[in-house]
Amino acid sequence: MKKGRVIQSTGSWYLVDTGDKIVESRLPGRFRLEEKEVTNPLAVGDWVDFNLNDDGSGNIEKIHKRENYITRQATHGKRGEQILVSNLDQACVVQSIKQPRLKEGFIDRFLVTCEAYEVNPVIIINKMDLAKSGGKALAEELKELYTELGYKCLLTSIEDELSLKSVRALLKDKTSAFIGPSGVGKTSLINAIDPSYNLKVNEVSDFSSKGKHTTTFARLIPLSFGGYIADTPGIREFGLVNIEPWELSLFFPEMLEPRENCQFSNCTHAHEPKCGVADAFEKGEIAASRYQSYLNMLDSL
Ligand code: GDP
Ligand code: ZN
Repeated sequence: MKKGRVIQSTGSWYLVDTGDKIVESRLPGRFRLEEKEVTNPLAVGDWVDFNLNDDGSGNIEKIHKRENYITRQATHGKRGEQILVSNLDQACVVQSIKQPRLKEGFIDRFLVTCEAYEVNPVIIINKMDLAKSGGKALAEELKELYTELGYKCLLTSIEDELSLKSVRALLKDKTSAFIGPSGVGKTSLINAIDPSYNLKVNEVSDFSSKGKHTTTFARLIPLSFGGYIADTPGIREFGLVNIEPWELSLFFPEMLEPRENCQFSNCTHAHEPKCGVADAFEKGEIAASRYQSYLNMLDSL
């Protein structure tokens, strides 16, 4: 029996990476009956045990337990959720300081989703070379805010080799996803730190074209210096998670202590009297942008 990582799927074939080679593998039908809550029994990112057949293909025997996973609504009119990618070490939200303009709300929504999925978040603010003094000050301020909250935050530019070095160090030997709106520089950043990346993207595209039912499944693309990038076509944001209004503040680290002082245990910290979170905000202990993001998210639940 060999162990490997599923790096791509066509729905009926899976590419399993053992570290020295990549084996096209099949999943026996019995696995399809076992899992009920998600539509795909085996996901990109999963670790599996498999047997090698005489023709060099693999037969998957065991799926290891997932550390975490991110989902989206199933497509093709199927009910339920589809796992996009599993066993992520980190998810990186990418924003640019301008072109397009940075949106704090996007970062905060992303952080909440990561907390809910139990995925480590990282914040990357790119295109720092375009920032004037106001933009630089804003980026530094945000970096300080998020670092204090316990989140990793990098300021980058594809023109700045030192910042690229820090991105390389961040991604080395890890499985990471880049999430963010189009145009912020996700592709440029990855290509800048690993020039062979594009080639690999094209190689694995050849495999997808074999699948009859290939939709926009995620893929893991190996980095030349170790690690994988989850390529999740069309996914700019994680799927929405089901969060009850009173739970939302549990995903804002700076609200955990203040919420202990609320009069009502189901306080939503929006309009209730004797609210510890509102008090903390008044005292300047919670950043205005964070409280605003909180209220916006509460509205959308
Ligand atoms: P994606 O949609 O997030 O993958 O964004 P792209 O990687 O396609 O980048 C969008 C545009 O921004 C391209 O024209 C890039 O050349 C440009 N870009 C990306 N990163 C930077 C950066 O750090 N500085 C500057 N000035 N331009 C960048
Ligand atoms: Zn409250």
